[in-house]
Amino acid sequence: TVRTRFAPSPTGYLHVGGARTALFSYLFARKHGGQFVLRIEDTDLERSTAESVNAILEAMTWLGLEYDEGPFFQTHRFERYNAIIETLLEKGLAYRCDCSKERLETLREQQMAQRLKPRYDGHCRGQAIDPDRPHVIRFKNPVDGVVVVDDLIRGRIVFANAELDDLVIRRSDGAPTYNLSVVVDDADMGITHVIRGDDHINNTPRQINILRALGYEPPRYAHVPMILGDDGARMSKRHGAVSVIAYRDQGYLPEALLNYLVRLGWSHGDQEIFSLEDMIAAFEISDVNRAASSFNTDKLDWLNQHYLQHADPARIARLLSPHMGRLGIDPAAGPDLSSVVQAQAARAKTLTELAEISAFFYRDFETFDEAAAKKHLRPVARDGLERLRAAFELMAYEDWTLAGLKHVVEGVAEELGCALGKVAQPLRVAIVGRAASPGIDETLLLVGKEATLRRIDRALA
Ligand code: GLU
Repeated sequence: TVRTRFAPSPTGYLHVGGARTALFSYLFARKHGGQFVLRIEDTDLERSTAESVNAILEAMTWLGLEYDEGPFFQTHRFERYNAIIETLLEKGLAYRCDCSKERLETLREQQMAQRLKPRYDGHCRGQAIDPDRPHVIRFKNPVDGVVVVDDLIRGRIVFANAELDDLVIRRSDGAPTYNLSVVVDDADMGITHVIRGDDHINNTPRQINILRALGYEPPRYAHVPMILGDDGARMSKRHGAVSVIAYRDQGYLPEALLNYLVRLGWSHGDQEIFSLEDMIAAFEISDVNRAASSFNTDKLDWLNQHYLQHADPARIARLLSPHMGRLGIDPAAGPDLSSVVQAQAARAKTLTELAEISAFFYRDFETFDEAAAKKHLRPVARDGLERLRAAFELMAYEDWTLAGLKHVVEGVAEELGCALGKVAQPLRVAIVGRAASPGIDETLLLVGKEATLRRIDRALA
């Protein structure tokens, strides 16, 4: 059965590129009825942190990328890696090397001077190195022949063994190296398909050689191209938010980010909207683009707006609540937030924006939009606003309904013999502070009688 894994190094937040790789691994496993494993590659003790592990787990949970096994931690498996290293030594597939830093440096300089790719020359192969003196352990890479990788995205890639050198698999401090632990884990965890960033492509032939030396059948590989910023450079902080959690905090929905990421370098006809189920059904790894793709915030915004409008308003209200909180608003002290969401969802691209444009339902706005006030409020609208105020004041609370409000606003327009907009627009600016809001009746209904009267007074003052 198919088994894939996502294997982040916990040295920072979960990058959107990492999230897309995780998504592809997840989709591939689900598509084939297999399992998806989460493995934390924390062997770099200096750069790995517990906060980063938590940030990655939090991002995975938020995205809803459920893993069937894990998280496994490489730091819990050092004994196993060391046992494998011992086996390789015993079988003569690895050897101790005590070449000094100086020797390696001189070798490197010589090779560079001859325009050769720097690689270890196998100096310690076949030598008896005293195990009690400081040394590293190197894998005996085959010296000739080729490693053929039939990459599921990039097609066939052929590496000459002569280009590869004898990789260090245990450092002098006794710690197993990255390539060794990945190989042991992929084998032990029964990984059938390795889907990862194409920055690892040069590790692949080395890992395949180690796997074969250990008697394992290598998995299939798929190397996913990276995500670029709008200037063609690898997407980084200077292009804007790169961490999944930053997108959450900016008010994006997980389904929108997933939908955006799946379409970044993968397509299925001209379909744009994909639920997770749709993706699982349609996903083919071979359809992933070989070229890198550029991150486009406008498209993400478009998708987010789509999902804001189509999701269950009660759920959006729950997600919106903390964004209102950040504006100092307690949504419990005002109109039902789901109703506000229903009235406003089509007007906002993110939850943050939705909170901003909905604040006026919960508290008096601070300043009028100057242009709107000039155009609609003064001095022409006094008469209309005064009449509206008087009519609203007479309304009983139980008449404060869509129909009741519509009746009053239309009545005043009729009295004045003018178009509805001539009455409704000044009223809107008075209540909302700006010229845009949901329908005037709906707006009044949610703002409530008390605040409506107060705000009209303020506009007239
Ligand atoms: N830990 C590696 C990274 O974060 C991924 C290695 C792999 O997928 O094989 O880049």
